Amino acid sequence: MTPSGANAIFLLLAVGWYIIRIPHARRSRRTRVARSRKDIREKALLIVSLAGLGIVPLAYIATGFPSFADYAFNPIAAWAGTCTAAGALVLFFVTHRALGRNWSISLEVREGHTLVTDGIYRHLRHPMYTAFWLWAVSQALLLPNWFAGCAGFVGFGTLFLGRIAREEQMMVERFGDEYRAYAVRSYRILPGIY
Ligand code: SAH
Repeated sequence: MTPSGANAIFLLLAVGWYIIRIPHARRSRRTRVARSRKDIREKALLIVSLAGLGIVPLAYIATGFPSFADYAFNPIAAWAGTCTAAGALVLFFVTHRALGRNWSISLEVREGHTLVTDGIYRHLRHPMYTAFWLWAVSQALLLPNWFAGCAGFVGFGTLFLGRIAREEQMMVERFGDEYRAYAVRSYRILPGIY
C-alpha cells in the first residue's frame, strides 16, 4: 500500500458512507418529528464531528496541510485501516437499515417511533456510533499526519461525549421502562466492555 492508496481508501470510506446515508436522509425528511432536541448545542456538535471526520482529513488529502505534522507512512497500519474502514461501512449499512424510519441525524423522536432492540441492536445500543469510532480509527491508521489522523477522534469524540447521555435520556422519556430494561441488558458501543 502506498500513501496515495491509503488516501483513496479514506475517500472510498467517505463516499461509501455518503451513498449509504442518502436514502435514509431522504426518508427522514419525509418522516414527521414528534419531539426534537436538535438545539444549538446539537448543531454545534454535528459541525465539530463533520469537521473532524470529514473536512480536516479531506483538506489534508487535497492540500497536504499541515505537512509539519506528517510522520513516516506505514503500509501495515494502512492495511489495518482498510480493514477497519470496511468494517465501519458494513456497520453503517446494517445500522441504518435496522433503524429504518426511526433514524435521525440528530436527537429526534419520530411519529410512530419504535424501539429497535434486535439484530445488531440486541447487544449494543449505539452500534452506529461504534461505526463512527471505527471511522476515526481508520482515519488515524490511513493518514500519516498527527493533525488529520487524530481529528476524527477529537471531532467524533466531542459529539459522542456531548450527546450520549442526552440521547439515552430522550429514549427513556419516550420508551420508559422498556428502554431502561434494554439499557441494563445491552452495552453502548463495545460488546462486553462498554
Ligand atoms: N445511537 C444509535 C442511533 C444513532 S441515530 C446508534 O449509534 O446506533 C440517532 C437517533 O436514533 C436518535 O435520535 C434516536 O431517535 C434514534 N435511536 C437511537 N437508538 C434507537 C433504538 N434502539 N431504536 C430506535 N431508535 C433509536
